[in-house]
Amino acid sequence: MEKRNKRRMILFPLPLQGCINPMLQLAKILFSRGFSITIIHTRFNAPKSSDHPLFTFLQIPDGLSETQKQSRDVLLQLTLLNNNCENPLRECLTNLIKGSETEEGGEISCLIDDSGWVFTQSVADSFNLPRFVLCAYKFTFFLGHLLVPQLRREGFLPFPDSEAEDSVPAFQPLRKKDLARIMGKKDQVEPLDAYLVKILETTKPASGLIVMSCEELDRDSLSESHKVFAFPIYPIGPPHIHVVPASSSSLFEPDQSCTPWLDKQETRSVMYVSLGSIVTITESQFLEIACGLRQTNLSFLWVVRPGSVQGRDWIESLPSGFMEGLNGKGKIVKWAPQLDVLAHRATGGFLTHNGWNSTLESICEGVPMISLPFVWDQLLNARFVSDVWRIGIHLEGRIERREIESAVIRLMVEPEGKQIRERVNALRDEVRRSVQRGGSSSRYLDDLVDRITSF
Ligand code: UDP
Repeated sequence: MEKRNKRRMILFPLPLQGCINPMLQLAKILFSRGFSITIIHTRFNAPKSSDHPLFTFLQIPDGLSETQKQSRDVLLQLTLLNNNCENPLRECLTNLIKGSETEEGGEISCLIDDSGWVFTQSVADSFNLPRFVLCAYKFTFFLGHLLVPQLRREGFLPFPDSEAEDSVPAFQPLRKKDLARIMGKKDQVEPLDAYLVKILETTKPASGLIVMSCEELDRDSLSESHKVFAFPIYPIGPPHIHVVPASSSSLFEPDQSCTPWLDKQETRSVMYVSLGSIVTITESQFLEIACGLRQTNLSFLWVVRPGSVQGRDWIESLPSGFMEGLNGKGKIVKWAPQLDVLAHRATGGFLTHNGWNSTLESICEGVPMISLPFVWDQLLNARFVSDVWRIGIHLEGRIERREIESAVIRLMVEPEGKQIRERVNALRDEVRRSVQRGGSSSRYLDDLVDRITSF
């Protein structure tokens, strides 16, 4: 650990699990490079400060009502948060800057916040603070999603069914059917496009973009970045393997009985199943996954978040005797210590929604995937997994017991699975090398630290 360098970084995560994790991992990395860290966060989905005793946490009000907090409409939540948080952030920064002039705690170097905050550039400007934007997506998605309003204007939709599997030249390797889902439902079109235009407008004047990916995974899109952005880009990911051990930033309590359960299983025998922190499924999809997993007769560890089965509290719709009938081969938890689960020798595959964090975490542990993406960047990440890196099997949205059974058997038992595992292990090694001294992510991190120190 380096000595504190008397400089303080202000980090402002977007309050979603998939954005909080990379921001807190970045905080940990910068702390290890000598910076003091202040995390400004909303009351909604507040990170647990007790998990990070070395950072200062400051909460701001976000104005979300109880109903808005429970909403499944993430775009609506983000719009409201962006509308409500500007003044509270300004006030908080005013107090911090006043305090930093008098107290020991370090001169404030810059603000780092998520690309999903669209009012922060003008706030940072008014305090003369350099602002860095954190991109928690694969960079291909970040560049591509900014094109969505333009593609819509150019009449991308509708397209004939016969073209559904065709690729989208402007957004490789997405297929037309994937992009149609990213473009949103009718009632979301206007707010989504307005939001994306704002993201582009407010990212361009920033001092730089910190990307939670690495050259090894994002070379093509990074080489295109100069066409859109004039500032430096720092692909420093995967963030969770820079400083070990990675600490938890879970909003939910991870079930610690997962590890002792995995300890009792054979090496690479368990299918880990998790659809992340936001996806919800219908009751019939839930039952298809349950029956598909049971039919494999293989072991599985399945995360079912309370409320993630629409209209149900948890897993009460499982047929009676389902768990008993598995003879100890299945375990269902509300939230898992995912990094530990993926790193466990017993975990042999990951049925995932392909959120970017989950995808990166799986690659870093050499765990092959079965892709079941639902929305947004998940659709692109899944294409990279199945079509480009060939480190997984794509379910193509078929949430049917036979499809799930067959994909799990192909991955866990058949020779095809062995080849997929060899490829993911090779990719794991490349990606892990990027954060070692001299590797691409490690060099970009050095550049980022030099830049921040130069302010
Ligand atoms: N995660 C976890 N326990 C779980 C499920 C997920 O700790 O039971 C973590 C996971 O390690 C990842 C994050 O939650 O870091 C989910 O982020 P991701 O980008 O994969 O998906 P999102 O939740 O944003 O859809």
